Amino acid sequence: MATIEHISCLQPLVDTFGRVHSNLRVSVTDRCNIRCFYCMPAENVHFKPRHELLSFEEIERFVRVAAQLGVDKIRLTGGEPLVRHGLPDLVRKLAQVPGIRDIAMTTNGILLAEQAQALKDAGLGRLNISLDTLEPDTFFRISRREGLAQVLEGIFAAQRVGFRKIRLNAVAIRGITEPEIVPLGQFARRHGLEMRFIEFMPLDAEANWDDQQVITGEQIRATLTEGIGPLNPLPVEDPSQPATDYEFADGLGRIGFINPVSQPFCHHCNRLRLTAEGQVRNCLFSIEEWDARRLLRGGASDEDLTALIRASIGAKKAGHGINSDQFVKPDRAMYQIGG
Ligand code: SAM
Ligand code: SF4
Repeated sequence: MATIEHISCLQPLVDTFGRVHSNLRVSVTDRCNIRCFYCMPAENVHFKPRHELLSFEEIERFVRVAAQLGVDKIRLTGGEPLVRHGLPDLVRKLAQVPGIRDIAMTTNGILLAEQAQALKDAGLGRLNISLDTLEPDTFFRISRREGLAQVLEGIFAAQRVGFRKIRLNAVAIRGITEPEIVPLGQFARRHGLEMRFIEFMPLDAEANWDDQQVITGEQIRATLTEGIGPLNPLPVEDPSQPATDYEFADGLGRIGFINPVSQPFCHHCNRLRLTAEGQVRNCLFSIEEWDARRLLRGGASDEDLTALIRASIGAKKAGHGINSDQFVKPDRAMYQIGG
C-alpha cells in the first residue's frame, strides 16, 4: 500500500470546530440482497439506475483528491457492497492511491464466502460483518429474507483467508435484541471475534424509529455482565473511534458499544461520506449534499474537487442533534447514504 511520504499533503480537512477529517466512507451501491427493517423499505425499493452510480474510475479519482487532503482511511459500504460487480478491482485501485493506508469494508456477509479471498488479495485490510442474531427466524424477521447460514459461512471464510480484525455489528432494537445479546457475546468469545452493538438510529426508510426502541449500550453491557461476566474498559486507541471498547475480565473476547443516541460522539468525528451516486456528505444526518459527480463528469480540475470537499467540511455542524427538538431526519435512509 502507498504511504503518506509519497504525496504532498495540502492543508488538511479541518472544520470550524477544529475536527480533522481523515476517514472517508464510500458507498458503492444503494442495492442490497436483504431488506433490514431498520434500513430499507420492505417492498418497492427505488434503486438508482446504474449510470447514476460513480464508476470505479470516478471513485478512485475522488479518493486520490481526498488523500491529498489528508484522508488515509477508506471504508467501503452501501447498500450491500458485495452486490456491486467486481468489487476487488476497486479495492485494488484504492490500495494503490498514495496516502491510503487502510481499506475496510462493512458487509452483511451473505456473499462474503465466495469473495473473501479475492478481497484479501486485492488489499482489503479489515472487515465489519453485520450479525444481529444467531436465530434463523429472527434473522428473517429483521431482514425479511433468508440468509443467516451464508452470513455465518462468510464469517468463517473471512477468518480462513486470514482477515485478522473482524468485527461483528449488531443493531440493538428493543423487543428483538434482548435474547440475542448473551448468545452473540458468547459466539464472539468462542470464535475470537469482536462484537459491537450499535444503538438504533433514526435512519430507517419507513420512518418508524422512536427512542423507545433504542436499547442503550449501558443496558447491553449490564446484560452481558450478568449473563457472561464482568467487562473491563479498554484504553482508547484512537479518540475518533465511535466505539467504547471493553474486554471480559477473563481476557476472552472484546465487546464494543457504539452509542450515537445515548452518548453522541460527534465532538471527535473525523468522517466524511461519498454516496454511491457521488454526493459528498459531512454527516450521516446531514440534510445537505455537495455534488461531486457533476464535477467528476464535467471535466473539473482537482482544485475544483478540493474546493467542493472543503465546502462540505466547512459546513459541518457540531453534532447530529438526534435528542433535540430541532432534529430533522434526513430524506435519505441508511442504505441510500452508506452506513
Ligand atoms: N449492507 C452492509 C451491512 O449491513 O453491513 C453495509 C451497509 S449498512 C447500511 C452499514 C451498517 O449500518 C450495518 O452494520 C447496519 O447494521 C447499520 N445500520 C443500518 N441501519 C441502521 C440504523 N437505522 N441504525 C443503526 N445502524 C444501522
Ligand atoms: Fe442491506 Fe445493510 Fe441495509 Fe441490511 S443494513 S438492508 S444488509 S444495506
